[in-house]
Amino acid sequence: MNTIKVERLNDIAILPLDTNGFEKLEPSKKKLAFHLAQAGLWGKMICLDQMSKHNIPLLDSLTDIYSKTDKEDPIHQKLYESLFMLFTHGGIYHTMSGEKITLPLSKEDLNLLSVSYPEQYKIIDYVLNSEDVPAFRTVQNEGVDVVKNSGVNFYEGLTTKEVEEFRKNEYKLEQYGEEIPPFGFNEKLIKNDKGEIKREVISLHGLYGKYVEKIIESLNEALKYTENEKQHNSIAALIEFYKTGDAKLFDKYSIAWTLDQSSEIYFINGLIESYDDPLGIGCTFESLIAFKNPIQTEKVNKIIENIQWFEDNLPIDKSFKKEKANGLSASSITVVSMAGDTSPVLPLGVNLPNSDWIRKKHGSKSVSLANVDSSRSGYESVLREALYLPQYQSIINQYGDLTSGLHTDLHEIAGHGSGKVNPGVNTDVLSTYYSTIEECRADLVALYYIADEKLKEFGVFDSSVNVKEAALAKYIVYLTNGAVAQLRRVKEGNDLTQAHFRNRQLISNWIFNHANPEKVRMIKDHGRYVVEINDLEHVKEMFGILLAEIQRIKSEGDFEAARDIVLKYGTKVNPIIHKEIIERIAKLNLATVTGFLTPELVEVDNDVIIVQPESFMEQQLRFYKEYKL
Ligand code: ZN
Repeated sequence: MNTIKVERLNDIAILPLDTNGFEKLEPSKKKLAFHLAQAGLWGKMICLDQMSKHNIPLLDSLTDIYSKTDKEDPIHQKLYESLFMLFTHGGIYHTMSGEKITLPLSKEDLNLLSVSYPEQYKIIDYVLNSEDVPAFRTVQNEGVDVVKNSGVNFYEGLTTKEVEEFRKNEYKLEQYGEEIPPFGFNEKLIKNDKGEIKREVISLHGLYGKYVEKIIESLNEALKYTENEKQHNSIAALIEFYKTGDAKLFDKYSIAWTLDQSSEIYFINGLIESYDDPLGIGCTFESLIAFKNPIQTEKVNKIIENIQWFEDNLPIDKSFKKEKANGLSASSITVVSMAGDTSPVLPLGVNLPNSDWIRKKHGSKSVSLANVDSSRSGYESVLREALYLPQYQSIINQYGDLTSGLHTDLHEIAGHGSGKVNPGVNTDVLSTYYSTIEECRADLVALYYIADEKLKEFGVFDSSVNVKEAALAKYIVYLTNGAVAQLRRVKEGNDLTQAHFRNRQLISNWIFNHANPEKVRMIKDHGRYVVEINDLEHVKEMFGILLAEIQRIKSEGDFEAARDIVLKYGTKVNPIIHKEIIERIAKLNLATVTGFLTPELVEVDNDVIIVQPESFMEQQLRFYKEYKL
């Protein structure tokens, strides 16, 4: 793709995804991808509703008025912008920071709407302005009831204590030993007028049943085109799970999915990530369809071939290491469809399943999203000058993209895939801090190893790479992002609540507080906060020391230590740095949120082709009509 058409709205940029190569797949694989993509799109509304119970009523009202107002009407443009924002963030909460977003609809605008659209006005005004609508999707602050104060739609009328007690009695996890099913991951708990707690389960005859029915229909179609028995088994197991919503069947599916390692078509479909639940249990719907890139996959596999070396050389206590790192699979993929939590903002890498015991027993599958990484980094290259000292510009230009991709691979494969927990420890005890600790662990493993000359020996780095310079580039980028750059995505005055933000700031601030300031520090240069490193080895060593402690916290399930370290380094935002970076980035007129158009798979005779939509709004409005029941 030579000319990339970028759609902009304030801090949002929407880019097309380069799906080159899809056309060369066998027709049956394209058919498979088509039906899996449909199964994903049918889950869009599930995710929207999970993120906030106000999302669908608000979108119904806004899309309705939008369709009835004239293009010339001044309110039309404001409605356009509001919808653009809501579709980008997947609802009223910021897709990354989780803060409630501010739509460009003033009191006067709403008053105007109240005349012609009284019913819709009531809903819009309530969602936008009522104090009853939580300010955050996920609250994790100490001293507040996280369940009561979070905007996410997993609990209704309940306190944290009530939820925890209910689940303790309901699920009796003790009876399962090590192999604990993910109970609670697909449910909504509601306290009724009588004070009873009702449990609604996402399934064919349960919560979101009409959508689940459509998902099952599409999966049944997909079954006709599977590449092999293992892939067939995994889709069949997913259908079985959706019929009843039994958590044990989800584990069965996850195992079947993990064992399907050689298929060319890769997919995710289901209730996967628990980041948005303040208790880290409820999972949001997501879907991702992709095909594997053989050449890049071979590079990633160099890490896997040597995975035992990575495990053995971790700077952590011996008892926390796996004697035998097992069953790993990693691929570089080209994404061709996504929905739910992965749309329109995509991650760079994914490592699933999340279940600790399944990973231990059956391994995991890790993918890096090559076409997402390449489209995004091209767009963000203008940031470099603003963020880093002049002496680092050339190495970051040279190695920035390379080490970004490698960091993702190491994070997913050598990071999430590594280590073990002590017998009898259930990592659920880390509660709201689990995600932050786990992301920290994976990032630290990647940072620790990226400076190792061994990578060249393994063929992970080409022989032409200067490992020291490549690692220095990564360290500067990482520490700058964690302590400074990522704050541009957070509203002034707010602290960090989202796990990835917390994890990156935790690592960076811990380093600046513990490392030798002669060797690594944050300085003010021409009014900008920037990072300077004078001794790469020292920084690597410090990453190792922090990794040892983070691994200990996970392996021992040390809740107190998890809370202390997350609150001390990963939560509070330095207001001076925050203000400075927001002002610095504002001058660049750059997007802070980069999303993607969903490529559209269309059946044509006995083939499937990809059609790029006209525009983001056109696509999202159409999806909102087509996939809403
Ligand atoms: Zn991760």
